[in-house]
Amino acid sequence: MIIFGTKGYLYQLAILTLVCGRCGNPAAHTLRKRVTKFTLFFVPLFPFSTKYATQCTFCGAEQQVTKEQAERLQAQEAGGQGGFGGPGGGQGHGPSQQQPYQRP
Ligand SMILES: [Zn+2]
Repeated sequence: MIIFGTKGYLYQLAILTLVCGRCGNPAAHTLRKRVTKFTLFFVPLFPFSTKYATQCTFCGAEQQVTKEQAERLQAQEAGGQGGFGGPGGGQGHGPSQQQPYQRP
């Protein structure tokens, strides 16, 4: 008999100060990675789903971001240079492929 299933892991990657798209406050946001792993006999073998999201600590709004966005946010937090180059940061809720945040 083979027992298999999945197990979810939550990693907090960074805490970023971002302007929230929902409440509009320059609040701390946690950047999280959620990994779902395939398990066999309760032993996690390999991840088959990885998702990234930021959550506003002020209002609790969670927003999914792509891996690229998550990496860029992390790099930005670490280095504090480069990053968002393009003009035209929209206000409020844009489509998800747009940059979701502005630097305060
Ligand atoms: Zn918020």
